[in-house]
Amino acid sequence: MDLREVVAAKRDGGTLTEDQIRSLVLAYAGGEADDGLAAAFLMACFIRGLDPAETLFLTRAMVESGSTLPLEGVTRPKVDKHSTGGVADGVTLVFAPLAASLGLAVAKLSGRGLGHTGGTLDKLEAIPGLRTELSMAEMERQVEEVGCAVAAQTKDVVPADGALYALRDATATVPSVPLIAASVMSKKLAVGSDLILLDVKAGSGAFMKTPEDARALAEACAALGEAWGRRVRAAVTDMSQPLGDAVGNALDVAEAVEVLRGKRSGRLTDLAVIFAAAALADLTEAREEEAAARARAALEDGTAARAFGRMVEAQGGDPRVVDDPWAVLPRAPVVRPIEAPRSGWVGGMDAEAMGRAGVALGAGRPRKGDLIDPAVGLVVTAEVGDRVEAGAPIGEVHARNEDAARSAGAAVLAAIEVGEETVGAPPLVYGWHGS
Ligand code: URA
Repeated sequence: MDLREVVAAKRDGGTLTEDQIRSLVLAYAGGEADDGLAAAFLMACFIRGLDPAETLFLTRAMVESGSTLPLEGVTRPKVDKHSTGGVADGVTLVFAPLAASLGLAVAKLSGRGLGHTGGTLDKLEAIPGLRTELSMAEMERQVEEVGCAVAAQTKDVVPADGALYALRDATATVPSVPLIAASVMSKKLAVGSDLILLDVKAGSGAFMKTPEDARALAEACAALGEAWGRRVRAAVTDMSQPLGDAVGNALDVAEAVEVLRGKRSGRLTDLAVIFAAAALADLTEAREEEAAARARAALEDGTAARAFGRMVEAQGGDPRVVDDPWAVLPRAPVVRPIEAPRSGWVGGMDAEAMGRAGVALGAGRPRKGDLIDPAVGLVVTAEVGDRVEAGAPIGEVHARNEDAARSAGAAVLAAIEVGEETVGAPPLVYGWHGS
């Protein structure tokens, strides 16, 4: 097949066959098609769109590009959870051990932070000794024994997505509903879970800036799951402000440990409980309310925290992180308060700008492959709808030096609107889609 004809057909607004899409994707993943051709293909898809059948063909070709993780040896009900990416989004750190403590199995292949969004692997690797490079056999064994494992996407699972995602990042073709849906779902469908939960973020800190766009992505992902014969439930959730307080890596782990020990309430806790309850209700006989009560109880009675400790230990990390996080986590040398610039009501936040402030401190990576500093980051305690008083602390900067602390503090203040009028807090969940 002449792959230039495939690109030309999409360029001209045509509909591609499964054979055409598979040939192009497998040729690129196998190194037989070059970046130029694949970039032209992506841009044609970005501009012309892909219909549901083409999106399914793309997803299937990406799954077929590598090996899968069927998890046949895992006897507990299996749930996978994925976020489309946000700021202070530590839900997976809480969800995986919480679901494990409720008798479910979570085998989670996670990614690293890119751009302004954080990544679960970077956060976990802030724990000294913790390994995220697990073989598929190790992962399956750990999930059966401990109930959860969070590991790096290996090169042999959906390699086409790794290659295409990097090219999309370099060619301004990331924010396309069918391309994101195929990318997210290919990685989920390659793992043999009984239920896939998706957290599709909407707002200033997300790829999808509005709940309507996020809903379109949630529906596209759910449709792919259905066409594949898999259960998918996708929630559109708020990312118009950071979800938790911590933007960073060690700081996120410390916050997640507080949630897991039942010592912290708020949006991060509520969302982790909502997802754990949705999984428990879907995969067992439990009703939603009872499932939510059991999830909250597991946070309060220490069962979820103990499951986190077992997961950390199984992956070579220091389990003391559960009882005394700051005894083991790296700390930044400079910690400075952020103070409210004036009295008033917090009316809005630019979550992306806060994520970028974290990246500028060294907590994230502007480009794939960049190194990060696990100790640095931000803590922002003010939320939309809160009353703040001039000069009162609303957060902290954790930095390598004074200059970095000063500019991050200024960036955070520029990202927070403080006005005269009261503003209601946005909803945490806009709605659910899928089976
Ligand atoms: N996350 C993914 O895994 N893929 C995308 O395309 C965007 C976000």
